[in-house]
Amino acid sequence: MSQLKVSRVKSLVPLGTLIGHELRSGKVEKPYVKYGQAALAKKGEDYFLINPDCQRIPGDPTTSFSVFAIFDGHNGISAAIFAKENLLNNVLSAMPQDVGREEWLQALPRALVAGFVRTDIEFQQKGETSGTTVTFVVIDGWTITVASVGDSRCILDTQGGVVSLLTVDHRLEDNVEERERVTASGGAVGRLNLFGGNEVGPLRCWPGGLCLSRSIGDKDVGEFIVPIPHVKQVKISNAGGRLIIASDGIWDALSSDLAAKSCRGLPAELSAKLVVKEALRSRGLKDDTTCVVVDIIPSENLVLLPIPKKKQSFLVSLFGKKSQNGMTKAISKFSTVKSVEELFEEGSAMLDERLGKNFPPNQSPGVFRCAVCLVDKLPCDNELANSGPMFSTASEPLDGPFLCTTCQKKKDAMEGKKATGTAPA
Ligand SMILES: [Zn+2]
Repeated sequence: MSQLKVSRVKSLVPLGTLIGHELRSGKVEKPYVKYGQAALAKKGEDYFLINPDCQRIPGDPTTSFSVFAIFDGHNGISAAIFAKENLLNNVLSAMPQDVGREEWLQALPRALVAGFVRTDIEFQQKGETSGTTVTFVVIDGWTITVASVGDSRCILDTQGGVVSLLTVDHRLEDNVEERERVTASGGAVGRLNLFGGNEVGPLRCWPGGLCLSRSIGDKDVGEFIVPIPHVKQVKISNAGGRLIIASDGIWDALSSDLAAKSCRGLPAELSAKLVVKEALRSRGLKDDTTCVVVDIIPSENLVLLPIPKKKQSFLVSLFGKKSQNGMTKAISKFSTVKSVEELFEEGSAMLDERLGKNFPPNQSPGVFRCAVCLVDKLPCDNELANSGPMFSTASEPLDGPFLCTTCQKKKDAMEGKKATGTAPA
């Protein structure tokens, strides 16, 4: 560790200079995004996605945003690969067209939910087993949006030296709410029972024995393992920040603080390697271990700095209070004093609460569009036609989003209800 400290010195810029520069310019430019990735495979079931140059308006580089994701597969690799290849498109197709940046960012949490559920349904329709965690990060300017299922985490290390977790672990062992939800939806939660009645290992859900309560895939485990992500959206100050996105191979070995400290002040590429190395040193290679480090930095030649202790006090801030009113959480006013502003957080597993009635966007009048798979139902559609998806009029909800028959079935199954494809006798 002491060797590392030496190489930090080169690119230090005092924080006061950064803030002064920002105040003088009066206008905050888009940050640079620099990233690095490192991995060590044990089972070969970790996948990652790095897409640093997506565009809200294709062909317009001023509308660029970047996407980083980690997929930690289990019981095979096909769910992880499928999610890596399809999730981004499924999220983007649920986004409104021709809207400004603010509106786009406000629509993102719901599009993430729709995209996750659609990807899960599409994968399950392939009839393959296997499942995957997903931690999916969208960075647009200073705004970071993270959607996650499973136990791969994303942490944020801000310039003030405050490390915060942007994801929630969907592990049955650690998450009481999720245990209750799984049980209420028809799953059983318990430890592995060895011969002789000894219970061993973490809490799992049965049938299947999965330790996670949310994932993409896992058709053979049970629909109570839902793909509905926890979503958190924050805006960091223009002093910048660092994200560390990693699979549980890292987090079973390192705390958030340790991971952040092990590489603070170093370039992203080297940092990703150091985090993996540090995890390996403390625990050995027991699991696939993948790490993506992303720096959001105000100017090309800067790297994240360790802040002198004296200056931390005025920068340290707490996250804003979480609002209680479900979907209608307003974008709060950005305070320049805070280093991190919480814009949105929602983790409910109820699709109605997550999508709302007016989702998806871009609907033509008189046309019902499934909020998840985005298939249109025209008023003149013959519902008994054999071609195309069928819509059940009974599924048109009063409060929730409109869903096609397939997606309504999925929703009911996730909530532990029996199939509604046929009328109850
Ligand atoms: Zn649908």
